[in-house]
Amino acid sequence: MGVLHTVQVDLGPRSYPVYVGYGLLGRIGDLFRNHITAKKVAVVSDENVAGLYMEEVLASLAEAGYEPVPVVVPPGESSKSLQVADIIYGRLVEAHLDRGSTVASLGGGMVGDLAGFVAATFMRGVSFVQMPTSLLAFVDASVGGKVAVNHRLGKNLIGAFHQPRFVAIDVSVLATLPGRELGAGLVEAVKHGVIRDEGLFGFLEENLEELASGRASPELWAELVAWNVRIKADVVCRDEREESGLRMILNYGHTLGHALEAATGYSRFLHGEAVALGMVAAGAIAERKGLLPSEERARQDELLSKFSLPGLEGVSDCEVLERMRSDKKAREGRVRFVLARHIGEVEVRDVEEDEVRVGLEAIREFLG
Ligand code: NAD
Repeated sequence: MGVLHTVQVDLGPRSYPVYVGYGLLGRIGDLFRNHITAKKVAVVSDENVAGLYMEEVLASLAEAGYEPVPVVVPPGESSKSLQVADIIYGRLVEAHLDRGSTVASLGGGMVGDLAGFVAATFMRGVSFVQMPTSLLAFVDASVGGKVAVNHRLGKNLIGAFHQPRFVAIDVSVLATLPGRELGAGLVEAVKHGVIRDEGLFGFLEENLEELASGRASPELWAELVAWNVRIKADVVCRDEREESGLRMILNYGHTLGHALEAATGYSRFLHGEAVALGMVAAGAIAERKGLLPSEERARQDELLSKFSLPGLEGVSDCEVLERMRSDKKAREGRVRFVLARHIGEVEVRDVEEDEVRVGLEAIREFLG
């Protein structure tokens, strides 16, 4: 039990460590003591996760001399709102948190984004700590400092960059994560392999089935998670605020994935599942453009075929294209896509609508 890997996110004065280990939540107070001096810590969680892990986190914090204040919100994306943030601000004021206090997240990416948004804005910004509990939050959402709430006109429209003081990833919580959520997180790991690291892609080819089965050892999970955190951290360190465009490569599979999620009313696909299909389409488009060799595209599809994914029944090409046109990244009938040149190497290209149709056709073929 304990920390198995520490990944440093190098952002000058905003640098922080990401601890990856087993049983970390039960001794989280010790990790706090290395980073946080003020006593008041609000621990924001959702009902599902709080029911499982809040008690041990509060006990460990109290034992380490902190005054933890639990704040529990309903689970689901609809809690990532200004209305719920407002309720949390009220709880923080009532519990007498001040500028020196800390807001910590205990939950998946939804809770991380919401608690981070509150931390970025309460009293003009207070210290933030992430205790992610979903695989998606381990490998993606908890690192990088993007925090946000949704607006009725779009997702993540109201937000900030607010880096945490540290991130504590306890892989033992994966034991309670629903299988579908586990799969959606693994898709993001595949994405990291394709955009940046053929070695990681190979590791997943070897181990994906064991990981998805829920029988993998904590060491194997910790290795996978730390590998992904290093990739995300490296991209974030080179482009913290999405200025150079590098951070955009993290959107591989997302352009079409987002359109599929929107076209199905955000109810059919988990985000990672839609991204998996978006990657299938991106592979076909990249091959058609002569960028990605067909055997490498087949390698990507083969790995993605190990996931059980919802289908496109009732979704027309026109509907998806319409969603893409209204996407904030679309420009004059062309859409920016992250496309692979090889497994481990991508570039950003404009894609025409007829190429998007090729991508959709490839998804339908892939799904059989
Ligand atoms: P989520 O936080 O809604 O969690 C999914 C479900 O799993 C929820 O019902 C939650 O209660 C449950 N859960 C989480 N951990 C659990 C555990 N250990 N045991 C049992 N149940 C558990 O969703 P998510 O997929 O983790 O994150 C999606 C969110 O992350 C979206 O809002 C997305 O915008 C955001 N996101 C942010 C970034 C970023 O860089 N900030 C990146 C990617 C995604």
